[in-house]
Amino acid sequence: MKLVSYKAKANQSSARMGFIVENKVVDLQESYRLAMFAEENLSAIEEIDKELPACPNAFYRIGQPAFDKAKAAYEYSLQVDKSDVISLDREKVTLETPIPEPRKIICIGRNYIEHAAEMESDVPEFPVLFTKYATSLIGPEDAIEKTPQTEKLDYEVELCIVVGKEAREVKKEDAFAYIAGYTIGNDTTARDLQKRTPQWLQGKAIDRTSPIGPWVVSADELSDPANLNVRSYVNGEKRQDSNTNKLIFDVPFLMEFISHLVTLEPGDIIMTGTPDGVGVAMKPPQFLQAGDIVTLEIENIGTLENKVIDRP
Ligand code: MG
Repeated sequence: MKLVSYKAKANQSSARMGFIVENKVVDLQESYRLAMFAEENLSAIEEIDKELPACPNAFYRIGQPAFDKAKAAYEYSLQVDKSDVISLDREKVTLETPIPEPRKIICIGRNYIEHAAEMESDVPEFPVLFTKYATSLIGPEDAIEKTPQTEKLDYEVELCIVVGKEAREVKKEDAFAYIAGYTIGNDTTARDLQKRTPQWLQGKAIDRTSPIGPWVVSADELSDPANLNVRSYVNGEKRQDSNTNKLIFDVPFLMEFISHLVTLEPGDIIMTGTPDGVGVAMKPPQFLQAGDIVTLEIENIGTLENKVIDRP
């Protein structure tokens, strides 16, 4: 199940939850309402705004219970004629940032050996953690905004974990029970700002630089995140080509490590790190400029493509 946050272009002011069926966007709450009506489950319909909110932030803060209801709506929509559920052609909607305001975005640095090497860094003994903010995030149809503060804007394709349940001191063997899904993220980085102080945040958390999406794939469809091809392209030229089987600290390890420091909450995002092939390590280095198209692909998730613009 691919969960999107969408606006119908013509008449919608706030984003709603939806999912993709055969290149159409189906409204999540409306299809769940129909599914429950078909089951004559009227109490589920009465509680729908509380238990399956249309608002993406509210949906992700419920986490796994909302994912489970979404699955029922998705399965119902597969059984019925598409004209029986509210479905919109992809061209008629805008896909928005899938999780607009996660409470936490925790990012992992130097988590592929080849990337640590190209950055002339040691392989870390412990995960390198840093953060971004909701104001950094943009959606699959937004542009990455290059600010005048940087001359060295760079791309980083990353597998992102979406937390589904509050997680405190989770063991790695239990980690998958706390993960609701996965998406693609671009940990866009201003290398000049990242490197000018020991803390990376100023190079990593700039407003409107970090696309995620285009959707969240539910964990039931992606049970093994440990063997996914990960690629990036700039203007069609392949730059990164690796696999999540090369992560130094894998998904269960990260869930255990982080949740022993910080409570993970539903909707939180963990960006797991980028492989080698970033622009700053090319000879000569190549940085993003206005007009560039950055395309990220992760196997079994999809493609996230964004244009770079100078900040308006
Ligand atoms: Mg990164």
